[in-house]
Amino acid sequence: MKTIDDFAAEGLRVLVRADLNVPLDGGRVADDGRILASLPTLAALKARGAKVIVCAHLGRPGGKPDPRYSLAPVAARLAALLGEKVEFAADTAGPSARAAVAAMRPGGVVTLENLRFDAAETSKDDAQRGAFADRLAGLGDLYVSDGFGAVHRKHASVYDVALRLPHAAGYLVRAEVAALSRLTADIRRPYLVVLGGAKVTDKFGAFGSLLGAADRILVGGAMAFPFLAALGHPTGTSLLAADQVDAAAACLDKAAPGQIELPSDLVVAAGIAPRTPYRVVAADAIPAGQMGLDIGPQTAARFAAALGEAGTVFWNGPMGVFERDPYAAGTRAVASAMTDGTAFTVAGGGDTGAAIHALGLAEEAFGHVSTGGGASLEFIEGKTLPGLAVLDAP
Ligand code: ADP
Ligand code: MG
Repeated sequence: MKTIDDFAAEGLRVLVRADLNVPLDGGRVADDGRILASLPTLAALKARGAKVIVCAHLGRPGGKPDPRYSLAPVAARLAALLGEKVEFAADTAGPSARAAVAAMRPGGVVTLENLRFDAAETSKDDAQRGAFADRLAGLGDLYVSDGFGAVHRKHASVYDVALRLPHAAGYLVRAEVAALSRLTADIRRPYLVVLGGAKVTDKFGAFGSLLGAADRILVGGAMAFPFLAALGHPTGTSLLAADQVDAAAACLDKAAPGQIELPSDLVVAAGIAPRTPYRVVAADAIPAGQMGLDIGPQTAARFAAALGEAGTVFWNGPMGVFERDPYAAGTRAVASAMTDGTAFTVAGGGDTGAAIHALGLAEEAFGHVSTGGGASLEFIEGKTLPGLAVLDAP
Protein backbone atom coordinates (compact mmCIF):
# COMPACT_ATOMS: atom_id res chain seq x y z
CA MET A 1 0.00 0.00 0.00
CA LYS A 2 1.56 3.31 -1.09
CA THR A 3 1.42 6.15 1.41
CA ILE A 4 1.75 9.90 1.06
CA ASP A 5 5.49 9.48 1.71
CA ASP A 6 5.80 7.85 -1.74
CA PHE A 7 4.52 10.93 -3.59
CA ALA A 8 5.74 14.45 -4.16
CA ALA A 9 2.93 16.76 -3.11
CA GLU A 10 4.36 20.24 -3.49
CA GLY A 11 2.04 22.52 -5.37
CA LEU A 12 -0.36 19.65 -6.11
CA ARG A 13 -4.05 19.68 -5.32
CA VAL A 14 -4.41 16.76 -2.92
CA LEU A 15 -7.94 15.52 -2.29
CA VAL A 16 -8.01 13.87 1.14
CA ARG A 17 -10.94 11.67 2.10
CA ALA A 18 -10.98 12.07 5.87
CA ASP A 19 -13.31 10.70 8.52
CA LEU A 20 -14.69 13.74 10.33
CA ASN A 21 -17.92 12.06 11.37
CA VAL A 22 -17.83 13.38 14.93
CA PRO A 23 -20.72 13.54 17.40
CA LEU A 24 -22.34 16.98 17.46
CA ASP A 25 -24.25 18.41 20.39
CA GLY A 26 -26.48 21.35 19.45
CA GLY A 27 -24.19 22.30 16.54
CA ARG A 28 -21.03 21.97 18.67
CA VAL A 29 -18.38 19.29 18.18
CA ALA A 30 -18.95 17.06 21.22
CA ASP A 31 -15.82 14.93 20.69
CA ASP A 32 -13.02 15.82 18.31
CA GLY A 33 -11.18 12.49 18.40
CA ARG A 34 -11.66 11.81 14.71
CA ILE A 35 -10.55 15.34 13.76
CA LEU A 36 -7.41 14.88 15.86
CA ALA A 37 -6.76 11.55 14.17
CA SER A 38 -6.86 13.26 10.77
CA LEU A 39 -4.29 15.89 11.67
CA PRO A 40 -0.98 14.05 11.04
CA THR A 41 -1.79 13.49 7.37
CA LEU A 42 -3.25 16.95 6.82
CA ALA A 43 -0.37 18.67 8.59
CA ALA A 44 2.24 16.65 6.67
CA LEU A 45 0.67 17.51 3.32
CA LYS A 46 0.40 21.16 4.30
CA ALA A 47 4.03 21.24 5.39
CA ARG A 48 5.04 19.80 2.03
CA GLY A 49 3.31 22.63 0.21
CA ALA A 50 0.30 20.71 -1.05
CA LYS A 51 -3.06 22.35 -1.61
CA VAL A 52 -5.06 20.25 0.82
CA ILE A 53 -8.71 19.65 -0.06
CA VAL A 54 -10.55 17.79 2.68
CA CYS A 55 -13.74 15.87 1.96
CA ALA A 56 -15.78 13.93 4.51
CA HIS A 57 -19.29 13.00 5.53
CA LEU A 58 -21.25 13.79 8.67
CA GLY A 59 -24.17 11.69 9.84
CA ARG A 60 -26.87 10.41 7.53
CA PRO A 61 -28.52 13.46 5.93
CA GLY A 62 -30.25 11.29 3.32
CA GLY A 63 -28.67 12.56 0.10
CA LYS A 64 -29.75 16.18 0.27
CA PRO A 65 -28.44 19.34 1.92
CA ASP A 66 -29.52 19.65 5.55
CA PRO A 67 -28.00 22.42 7.70
CA ARG A 68 -28.09 20.16 10.76
CA TYR A 69 -25.42 18.03 9.13
CA SER A 70 -23.22 20.81 7.76
CA LEU A 71 -19.50 20.23 8.17
CA ALA A 72 -19.01 23.95 8.90
CA PRO A 73 -18.56 23.51 12.69
CA VAL A 74 -16.16 20.65 12.01
CA ALA A 75 -14.13 22.79 9.60
CA ALA A 76 -13.96 25.48 12.27
CA ARG A 77 -12.61 22.97 14.81
CA LEU A 78 -10.15 21.65 12.26
CA ALA A 79 -8.88 25.20 11.72
CA ALA A 80 -8.46 25.69 15.47
CA LEU A 81 -6.54 22.41 15.81
CA LEU A 82 -4.32 23.10 12.80
CA GLY A 83 -3.82 26.67 13.98
CA GLU A 84 -4.51 27.81 10.42
CA LYS A 85 -7.26 29.30 8.37
CA VAL A 86 -9.41 26.64 6.72
CA GLU A 87 -11.65 27.75 3.86
CA PHE A 88 -15.08 26.15 3.77
CA ALA A 89 -16.86 25.43 0.50
CA ALA A 90 -20.64 25.68 0.68
CA ASP A 91 -21.05 22.69 -1.64
CA THR A 92 -19.18 19.44 -2.22
CA ALA A 93 -18.17 19.39 -5.88
CA GLY A 94 -20.09 22.35 -7.26
CA PRO A 95 -19.28 25.99 -8.06
CA SER A 96 -18.33 26.91 -4.49
CA ALA A 97 -15.90 23.98 -4.21
CA ARG A 98 -14.35 24.70 -7.62
CA ALA A 99 -13.91 28.40 -6.81
CA ALA A 100 -12.38 27.66 -3.40
CA VAL A 101 -9.93 25.18 -4.92
CA ALA A 102 -9.01 27.53 -7.79
CA ALA A 103 -8.10 30.21 -5.24
CA MET A 104 -5.85 27.92 -3.18
CA ARG A 105 -2.17 28.46 -2.55
CA PRO A 106 0.39 25.79 -1.61
CA GLY A 107 -0.05 24.92 2.06
CA GLY A 108 -3.69 26.04 2.06
CA VAL A 109 -6.59 23.94 3.33
CA VAL A 110 -10.16 23.83 2.01
CA THR A 111 -12.90 21.69 3.54
CA LEU A 112 -15.77 20.70 1.28
CA GLU A 113 -19.36 20.46 2.49
CA ASN A 114 -20.77 17.08 3.62
CA LEU A 115 -20.33 14.47 0.86
CA ARG A 116 -23.65 12.88 1.76
CA PHE A 117 -25.55 16.03 0.75
CA ASP A 118 -25.37 14.36 -2.67
CA ALA A 119 -27.25 11.06 -3.01
CA ALA A 120 -24.68 9.89 -5.56
CA GLU A 121 -22.04 9.53 -2.83
CA THR A 122 -23.67 6.42 -1.38
CA SER A 123 -25.59 5.27 -4.47
CA LYS A 124 -25.64 1.58 -5.37
CA ASP A 125 -25.62 2.63 -9.03
CA ASP A 126 -22.06 2.56 -10.39
CA ALA A 127 -22.76 5.17 -13.08
CA GLN A 128 -24.33 7.60 -10.63
CA ARG A 129 -21.46 7.22 -8.18
CA GLY A 130 -18.99 7.46 -11.04
CA ALA A 131 -20.40 10.75 -12.28
CA PHE A 132 -20.06 12.24 -8.80
CA ALA A 133 -16.55 10.79 -8.49
CA ASP A 134 -15.63 12.45 -11.79
CA ARG A 135 -16.56 15.83 -10.33
CA LEU A 136 -14.67 15.16 -7.10
CA ALA A 137 -11.63 13.89 -8.98
CA GLY A 138 -11.66 17.07 -11.05
CA LEU A 139 -10.80 18.99 -7.90
CA GLY A 140 -7.53 17.14 -7.25
CA ASP A 141 -4.28 15.87 -8.77
CA LEU A 142 -3.72 13.20 -6.13
CA TYR A 143 -6.18 11.29 -3.93
CA VAL A 144 -5.34 10.38 -0.35
CA SER A 145 -7.47 7.86 1.53
CA ASP A 146 -7.37 8.62 5.25
CA GLY A 147 -11.00 8.18 6.33
CA PHE A 148 -10.60 4.75 7.86
CA GLY A 149 -14.11 4.83 9.37
CA ALA A 150 -15.57 4.73 5.83
CA VAL A 151 -13.24 2.32 3.99
CA HIS A 152 -15.76 -0.52 4.32
CA ARG A 153 -18.18 1.47 2.16
CA LYS A 154 -18.18 1.36 -1.63
CA HIS A 155 -18.91 5.06 -1.80
CA ALA A 156 -17.89 7.56 -4.48
CA SER A 157 -15.39 9.42 -2.30
CA VAL A 158 -13.97 6.21 -0.83
CA TYR A 159 -13.79 3.91 -3.84
CA ASP A 160 -14.59 5.48 -7.21
CA VAL A 161 -12.36 8.54 -6.84
CA ALA A 162 -9.37 6.31 -6.19
CA LEU A 163 -9.94 4.71 -9.61
CA ARG A 164 -9.65 8.13 -11.22
CA LEU A 165 -6.57 9.69 -9.60
CA PRO A 166 -3.11 8.61 -8.48
CA HIS A 167 -3.77 7.45 -4.93
CA ALA A 168 -2.09 6.85 -1.61
CA ALA A 169 -3.02 5.94 1.96
CA GLY A 170 -2.73 8.56 4.68
CA TYR A 171 -1.04 7.92 8.00
CA LEU A 172 -4.28 7.13 9.80
CA VAL A 173 -5.24 4.40 7.35
CA ARG A 174 -1.72 3.00 7.52
CA ALA A 175 -1.75 2.94 11.34
CA GLU A 176 -5.23 1.37 11.47
CA VAL A 177 -4.27 -1.41 9.08
CA ALA A 178 -1.07 -2.13 10.99
CA ALA A 179 -2.83 -2.36 14.37
CA LEU A 180 -5.91 -4.26 13.23
CA SER A 181 -3.79 -6.77 11.34
CA ARG A 182 -2.69 -8.04 14.77
CA LEU A 183 -6.27 -9.28 15.24
CA THR A 184 -6.31 -11.31 12.04
CA ALA A 185 -3.26 -13.56 12.47
CA ASP A 186 -1.09 -14.91 15.32
CA ILE A 187 -3.64 -13.72 17.87
CA ARG A 188 -2.48 -13.90 21.50
CA ARG A 189 -5.14 -15.90 23.39
CA PRO A 190 -7.49 -15.85 25.07
CA TYR A 191 -9.03 -13.46 22.56
CA LEU A 192 -12.07 -11.63 23.92
CA VAL A 193 -14.46 -9.49 21.93
CA VAL A 194 -16.67 -6.99 23.75
CA LEU A 195 -19.70 -5.84 21.77
CA GLY A 196 -22.22 -3.19 22.77
CA GLY A 197 -23.69 0.05 21.50
CA ALA A 198 -26.86 0.80 19.64
CA LYS A 199 -26.14 0.10 15.96
CA VAL A 200 -27.13 -3.47 16.59
CA THR A 201 -28.22 -4.52 13.11
CA ASP A 202 -24.88 -3.44 11.60
CA LYS A 203 -22.96 -5.43 14.19
CA PHE A 204 -24.91 -8.68 13.93
CA GLY A 205 -23.43 -9.08 10.47
CA ALA A 206 -20.05 -9.65 12.13
CA PHE A 207 -21.17 -11.78 15.04
CA GLY A 208 -21.13 -15.13 13.29
CA SER A 209 -17.60 -14.82 11.98
CA LEU A 210 -16.35 -13.43 15.30
CA LEU A 211 -17.61 -16.63 16.92
CA GLY A 212 -15.15 -18.43 14.69
CA ALA A 213 -12.25 -16.26 15.85
CA ALA A 214 -12.82 -15.21 19.45
CA ASP A 215 -12.65 -17.39 22.54
CA ARG A 216 -15.41 -15.40 24.22
CA ILE A 217 -17.77 -12.61 23.21
CA LEU A 218 -19.03 -10.35 26.01
CA VAL A 219 -22.28 -8.66 25.08
CA GLY A 220 -23.58 -5.41 26.59
CA GLY A 221 -25.35 -2.25 25.48
CA ALA A 222 -28.40 -2.65 23.27
CA MET A 223 -26.67 -5.66 21.64
CA ALA A 224 -27.85 -7.68 24.64
CA PHE A 225 -31.58 -7.30 24.05
CA PRO A 226 -31.98 -9.53 20.96
CA PHE A 227 -30.19 -12.27 22.92
CA LEU A 228 -32.36 -11.81 26.00
CA ALA A 229 -35.44 -11.83 23.76
CA ALA A 230 -34.19 -14.96 21.96
CA LEU A 231 -33.96 -16.67 25.36
CA GLY A 232 -37.58 -15.74 26.01
CA HIS A 233 -36.90 -13.01 28.57
CA PRO A 234 -38.92 -9.78 28.65
CA THR A 235 -37.06 -6.66 27.47
CA GLY A 236 -39.58 -4.02 28.58
CA THR A 237 -39.19 -0.79 26.61
CA SER A 238 -35.48 -1.38 25.95
CA LEU A 239 -34.02 -0.44 22.58
CA LEU A 240 -34.65 -3.85 21.03
CA ALA A 241 -33.68 -4.58 17.42
CA ALA A 242 -36.62 -6.95 16.99
CA ASP A 243 -35.47 -7.98 13.52
CA GLN A 244 -32.27 -9.40 15.03
CA VAL A 245 -33.82 -11.81 17.53
CA ASP A 246 -33.57 -14.71 15.08
CA ALA A 247 -29.96 -13.81 14.34
CA ALA A 248 -29.24 -13.80 18.06
CA ALA A 249 -30.85 -17.23 18.44
CA ALA A 250 -28.71 -18.54 15.59
CA CYS A 251 -25.56 -17.16 17.25
CA LEU A 252 -26.48 -18.85 20.53
CA ASP A 253 -26.92 -22.12 18.63
CA LYS A 254 -23.60 -21.79 16.86
CA ALA A 255 -21.60 -20.72 19.92
CA ALA A 256 -19.72 -23.13 22.15
CA PRO A 257 -21.12 -23.35 25.70
CA GLY A 258 -20.14 -20.16 27.56
CA GLN A 259 -18.64 -18.56 24.46
CA ILE A 260 -21.27 -15.82 24.46
CA GLU A 261 -21.54 -14.01 27.79
CA LEU A 262 -24.68 -11.99 28.36
CA PRO A 263 -25.54 -9.54 31.15
CA SER A 264 -26.92 -11.15 34.30
CA ASP A 265 -28.08 -7.82 35.74
CA LEU A 266 -29.01 -4.46 34.24
CA VAL A 267 -29.63 -0.88 35.31
CA VAL A 268 -33.18 0.03 34.26
CA ALA A 269 -35.34 3.15 34.31
CA ALA A 270 -38.63 4.33 32.82
CA GLY A 271 -36.70 6.62 30.45
CA ILE A 272 -33.43 8.46 30.00
CA ALA A 273 -34.67 11.89 31.10
CA PRO A 274 -32.50 13.36 33.90
CA ARG A 275 -33.62 12.58 37.47
CA THR A 276 -35.68 9.56 36.40
CA PRO A 277 -35.23 6.96 39.17
CA TYR A 278 -33.18 3.92 38.18
CA ARG A 279 -32.45 0.55 39.77
CA VAL A 280 -30.66 -2.73 39.21
CA VAL A 281 -32.70 -5.77 38.17
CA ALA A 282 -31.93 -9.30 37.00
CA ALA A 283 -31.36 -9.31 33.24
CA ASP A 284 -34.00 -12.01 32.75
CA ALA A 285 -36.65 -9.94 34.53
CA ILE A 286 -36.77 -6.43 33.05
CA PRO A 287 -40.06 -5.04 34.41
CA ALA A 288 -42.75 -3.89 31.97
CA GLY A 289 -42.38 -0.20 31.13
CA GLN A 290 -38.69 -0.15 32.07
CA MET A 291 -35.68 -0.01 29.75
CA GLY A 292 -32.20 -1.43 30.22
CA LEU A 293 -29.70 1.43 30.08
CA ASP A 294 -26.48 -0.12 31.38
CA ILE A 295 -25.07 -3.48 32.41
CA GLY A 296 -25.41 -3.99 36.16
CA PRO A 297 -22.57 -4.15 38.73
CA GLN A 298 -22.48 -7.96 38.86
CA THR A 299 -22.13 -8.16 35.07
CA ALA A 300 -19.52 -5.40 35.05
CA ALA A 301 -17.46 -7.27 37.64
CA ARG A 302 -17.74 -10.56 35.73
CA PHE A 303 -16.75 -8.92 32.43
CA ALA A 304 -13.88 -7.09 34.12
CA ALA A 305 -12.54 -10.32 35.61
CA ALA A 306 -12.61 -12.05 32.23
CA LEU A 307 -10.84 -9.10 30.59
CA GLY A 308 -8.13 -9.19 33.22
CA GLU A 309 -7.06 -12.61 31.93
CA ALA A 310 -7.29 -11.86 28.22
CA GLY A 311 -4.36 -11.90 25.81
CA THR A 312 -6.11 -9.87 23.13
CA VAL A 313 -9.25 -7.72 23.33
CA PHE A 314 -11.34 -6.08 20.66
CA TRP A 315 -14.02 -3.69 21.96
CA ASN A 316 -16.76 -2.05 19.94
CA GLY A 317 -19.77 -0.34 21.45
CA PRO A 318 -20.44 1.16 24.90
CA MET A 319 -21.99 -1.07 27.58
CA GLY A 320 -24.68 1.51 28.34
CA VAL A 321 -25.87 5.05 27.74
CA PHE A 322 -22.53 6.40 28.99
CA GLU A 323 -23.52 9.94 27.95
CA ARG A 324 -25.72 10.00 31.09
CA ASP A 325 -23.94 9.70 34.40
CA PRO A 326 -26.07 6.98 36.04
CA TYR A 327 -25.48 4.69 33.04
CA ALA A 328 -21.73 5.16 32.53
CA ALA A 329 -20.50 2.75 35.22
CA GLY A 330 -20.63 -0.40 33.09
CA THR A 331 -18.64 1.14 30.25
CA ARG A 332 -16.15 2.60 32.74
CA ALA A 333 -15.63 -0.74 34.50
CA VAL A 334 -15.13 -2.66 31.28
CA ALA A 335 -12.82 -0.05 29.74
CA SER A 336 -10.74 0.20 32.92
CA ALA A 337 -10.35 -3.57 33.07
CA MET A 338 -8.99 -3.49 29.53
CA THR A 339 -6.44 -0.81 30.25
CA ASP A 340 -5.41 -2.33 33.60
CA GLY A 341 -4.76 -5.76 32.08
CA THR A 342 -1.86 -6.97 30.00
CA ALA A 343 -3.82 -7.78 26.83
CA PHE A 344 -3.26 -6.13 23.47
CA THR A 345 -6.42 -4.01 23.42
CA VAL A 346 -8.12 -2.48 20.43
CA ALA A 347 -11.15 -0.24 20.87
CA GLY A 348 -13.09 0.74 17.77
CA GLY A 349 -16.12 2.87 16.93
CA GLY A 350 -17.06 6.53 16.91
CA ASP A 351 -19.03 6.39 20.14
CA THR A 352 -16.62 3.94 21.75
CA GLY A 353 -13.83 6.46 21.15
CA ALA A 354 -16.07 9.24 22.46
CA ALA A 355 -16.75 7.15 25.58
CA ILE A 356 -13.03 6.67 26.18
CA HIS A 357 -12.56 10.45 26.08
CA ALA A 358 -15.71 11.26 28.06
CA LEU A 359 -14.72 8.85 30.85
CA GLY A 360 -11.30 10.49 31.08
CA LEU A 361 -9.38 7.38 30.01
CA ALA A 362 -6.10 7.86 28.19
CA GLU A 363 -6.07 6.65 24.59
CA GLU A 364 -2.44 5.64 25.15
CA ALA A 365 -3.62 3.09 27.71
CA PHE A 366 -5.08 1.07 24.83
CA GLY A 367 -3.00 -0.80 22.30
CA HIS A 368 -4.93 0.99 19.59
CA VAL A 369 -8.04 3.14 19.45
CA SER A 370 -9.55 2.69 16.02
CA THR A 371 -11.57 5.51 14.52
CA GLY A 372 -13.68 2.98 12.65
CA GLY A 373 -16.53 0.94 14.16
CA GLY A 374 -18.01 -0.90 11.20
CA ALA A 375 -14.74 -0.71 9.30
CA SER A 376 -12.68 -2.22 12.12
CA LEU A 377 -15.26 -4.98 12.64
CA GLU A 378 -15.24 -5.92 8.95
CA PHE A 379 -11.45 -5.77 8.88
CA ILE A 380 -11.03 -8.22 11.76
CA GLU A 381 -13.69 -10.44 10.18
CA GLY A 382 -11.24 -10.77 7.29
CA LYS A 383 -13.53 -9.12 4.75
CA THR A 384 -12.24 -7.22 1.73
CA LEU A 385 -12.84 -3.53 2.36
CA PRO A 386 -13.53 -1.68 -0.92
CA GLY A 387 -11.70 1.48 0.17
CA LEU A 388 -8.55 -0.48 1.03
CA ALA A 389 -8.63 -2.90 -1.90
CA VAL A 390 -8.84 0.00 -4.34
CA LEU A 391 -5.60 1.46 -2.96
CA ASP A 392 -3.72 -1.66 -4.06
CA ALA A 393 -4.93 -1.19 -7.64
CA PRO A 394 -2.51 0.61 -9.95
P1 ADP B 1 -19.99 2.80 18.11
O1 ADP B 1 -20.14 4.15 17.45
O2 ADP B 1 -18.88 2.79 19.10
O3 ADP B 1 -19.92 1.67 17.12
P2 ADP B 1 -22.83 2.61 18.46
O4 ADP B 1 -23.01 3.75 17.53
O5 ADP B 1 -23.29 1.28 18.03
O6 ADP B 1 -21.32 2.53 18.97
O7 ADP B 1 -23.63 2.88 19.82
C1 ADP B 1 -23.32 3.95 20.68
C2 ADP B 1 -24.54 4.35 21.45
O8 ADP B 1 -25.11 3.24 22.07
C3 ADP B 1 -24.25 5.34 22.55
O9 ADP B 1 -24.73 6.61 22.15
C4 ADP B 1 -25.00 4.78 23.76
O10 ADP B 1 -25.77 5.75 24.44
C5 ADP B 1 -25.90 3.75 23.13
N1 ADP B 1 -26.30 2.67 24.06
C6 ADP B 1 -25.51 1.85 24.76
N2 ADP B 1 -26.24 1.01 25.51
C7 ADP B 1 -27.53 1.30 25.28
C8 ADP B 1 -28.77 0.81 25.77
N3 ADP B 1 -28.82 -0.17 26.68
N4 ADP B 1 -29.91 1.37 25.31
C9 ADP B 1 -29.86 2.36 24.41
N5 ADP B 1 -28.72 2.87 23.91
C10 ADP B 1 -27.57 2.35 24.34
MG1 MG C 1 -21.80 5.18 16.70
